[in-house]
Amino acid sequence: MSNQDLESRAKKVLFQNYRTQPIALLHGEGSWVWDADGKKYLDCIGGIATISLGHANVKLRAAVDAQIAKIWHSSNLYFTEPQIRLAEMLTSRSFADRVFFCNSGAEANEGMIKLARHWHVSQGHAERIEVVCMENSFHGRTMGALAATGQPKYQQGFGPLPAGFRFVKFGDIEALRAVVNDKTCAVMLEPVQGEAGVLVPPAGYLKQVRELCTATGALMLLDEVQAGMGRTGKLFCHQWFDFAPDAMSLAKGIAGGLPLGALLATDALAMSLTPGTHASTFGGNPIATAAACSVMEQLDEPLLAQVCARGEQLSEGLKSLAQRSTKVAGERGMGLWRGLLLNEDVAPKLVARARELGLLINAVGERIIRIAPALTISESEIAQSIELLGRALAEV
Ligand SMILES: *Cc1c(COP(=O)(O)O)cnc(C)c1O
Repeated sequence: MSNQDLESRAKKVLFQNYRTQPIALLHGEGSWVWDADGKKYLDCIGGIATISLGHANVKLRAAVDAQIAKIWHSSNLYFTEPQIRLAEMLTSRSFADRVFFCNSGAEANEGMIKLARHWHVSQGHAERIEVVCMENSFHGRTMGALAATGQPKYQQGFGPLPAGFRFVKFGDIEALRAVVNDKTCAVMLEPVQGEAGVLVPPAGYLKQVRELCTATGALMLLDEVQAGMGRTGKLFCHQWFDFAPDAMSLAKGIAGGLPLGALLATDALAMSLTPGTHASTFGGNPIATAAACSVMEQLDEPLLAQVCARGEQLSEGLKSLAQRSTKVAGERGMGLWRGLLLNEDVAPKLVARARELGLLINAVGERIIRIAPALTISESEIAQSIELLGRALAEV
């Protein structure tokens, strides 16, 4: 089966809701993938920041193999060991005391919104329903997560959405102060906005949000679905900024590319969800959580330091492209998570040309390229990615 064969079969039977690139990936190793025609690519998008330790990571495979030989699902009618071990690892390395597992980022955010509303009800404050979210945010495609997503283009045509969500400008603390009050349930935001093109807020902003929430009794809900799990060079992005949220959602890189989401919270919040109030049949699946345990073990201090070093190298490389090409306006981001800002509407064309040259990257709209390689990418692979991107830029 060639790329073309698979594409024509896909076009007949799959929903046509994706702008899928015209190649099928058959196998991968580290930062490299091979398509159905045998062509090799340097993967600098890593399954949208999910392949955190590279393709076919040996230790992760061993963890999955060992678990699949034991038991691969039981639901939460019974305890399974990997889920408990993963929760112990996540809580020992974060502000959180307890974890709820699910299967995706959207599902973790649904749980986080329900948790915040339910906690206020349990405190005798059923009037605190309003969730303040950010313009240009992204929290997922299910109805609650979509209601929290501040991008009208994703919401249009799907109404009515759940009520009680409002939006302010990301990074503007005065705008937030103007709307948060004693009726506010929560402020929900990403520490760095991924789908907005890796947008980092002004220095001090996140801590000011924390202080405002504490002063008003609103909960601070942090979506680290994309920012977390080592992507920025700390295990969790907010750990750079010296504050802790009340609850945090994780997914994307948590299990190295297997489907897993997690909702982390303080003891007080978590305990408000009593038996029967929330659930997920596949949540905490033993294979996915065993994979995530391996990810947690591998995300040690040396690897996080390496993410910082490779991130700096990538940032410098992208800046050098800005000096060489008038098509590039600049770059931004943290760690191995970067947005290349363009002066012309050529992002989709650039993605296509880079792919032809053997480099996989992602367009966010018409003018931003997102780069999110495996956290294990090497120095020479970063150098190659800059070289290929430079060639692609020269040719579009
Ligand atoms: C990808 C993403 C989501 C949605 O995750 P899914 O697993 O696609 O449901 C939510 N929030 C952020 C910040 C994301 O990047």
